[in-house]
Amino acid sequence: MDNVLNSDDQKLNAVIIVAAGRGERAGQSNGPKQYRLLGGKSVLEHTISAFADHVDIDLIQVVIHADDQALYLQHIGHHIGSREKLAPACIGGSSRQASVLCGLKALANQNAGKVLIHDAARPFVTTELISRVLAGIGSSQGTLPVLSVTDTIKRGKNGIVIETVSRHDLFSAQTPQGFEYSAIVMAHEKAALETGEQFTDDASIAEWAGIPVKLVDGDPENIKLTVPEDFVLAKKTMGNIVPDVRTGNGYDVHAFEKGNSVRLCGIDIPHSAKLMGHSDADVGLHALTDAILGTMADGDIGSHFPPSDPQWKNANSEHFFRHAVELLEKRGAVITHLDTTLICEMPKIGPHRDRMRAEIARMANISIDRVSVKATTNERLGFVGREEGIASIATATVVFRS
Ligand code: MG
Repeated sequence: MDNVLNSDDQKLNAVIIVAAGRGERAGQSNGPKQYRLLGGKSVLEHTISAFADHVDIDLIQVVIHADDQALYLQHIGHHIGSREKLAPACIGGSSRQASVLCGLKALANQNAGKVLIHDAARPFVTTELISRVLAGIGSSQGTLPVLSVTDTIKRGKNGIVIETVSRHDLFSAQTPQGFEYSAIVMAHEKAALETGEQFTDDASIAEWAGIPVKLVDGDPENIKLTVPEDFVLAKKTMGNIVPDVRTGNGYDVHAFEKGNSVRLCGIDIPHSAKLMGHSDADVGLHALTDAILGTMADGDIGSHFPPSDPQWKNANSEHFFRHAVELLEKRGAVITHLDTTLICEMPKIGPHRDRMRAEIARMANISIDRVSVKATTNERLGFVGREEGIASIATATVVFRS
């Protein structure tokens, strides 16, 4: 009975991202605005990522300007191949309308059911907004996200007010605008033939072609970056959403002295010597402790636990390490990764590696897959090579939650 598949289920949800504009209003000196950086990534990359991360978007067709092919590869090249949804970019036309038609034609053999059309210069489009527009196409052939107009609207001529326009049923249009693919491609082709290129958005073309377009709520934060001031505002917005990731490094050395065991990363390992130090001389934990303190720019292990202070004589280095972890927790930060390298000729670290990882993970209150312990010899060079001591370096990665 279920042998007839609903063909709509197999149709793809595609998005056309229009990135072919020259963006003169955003200031030409900085190049096309869709390639300007926000929080370390281009505007276009933010926009592509918003759609790539949406579970119901199957295919992303970017339309670029013929002059921007090198820029596109520079900014987006690393996604090509790794983002399965990202189709090869196509070259746009001489107007926004012509560029959208190029994108629609590029989707011709892709079995697109629904298509969203979005401006590259709106990088703050949210998952919720994309979902709303997609859902709207179910009940209407077109969906337009809009905001109510809140300013009083005037009509004027030659610098003089002519009238006040009722804003009661006025809305400002956003993108992504969503359509049944077959309907909008026909409307675009017809408009290009019969009217030339005069429409500034796709809902206008749908309206002209008699396609019903349903209004859904837009999003006030889904701003279009148009003038230089928009970038100033956008950078402030990005400051709130770019994760505050910080890294710190640490380095430590302890010399050998007479003994029969070394303490490394919280584990006692039998050896023909021990490490010399005021505390237990756990060179691995000391470097990690400094790495964690480094993420907070809060001094080093010596400034928190002066070697001159007798109370730290023979101290368990877990105490130092836990102190740094607790300082971090008090600042609302979480450790996302710890990586350390022990540098010594002997003892062999490999057999003890996973116990060290487990011990560090326990002390840091994180899972073991976030803890790396590596080891290398010093190729018999220098003090490590002469087996006079052990060195360690470490990197901590943390995220601060604002
Ligand atoms: Mg030390």
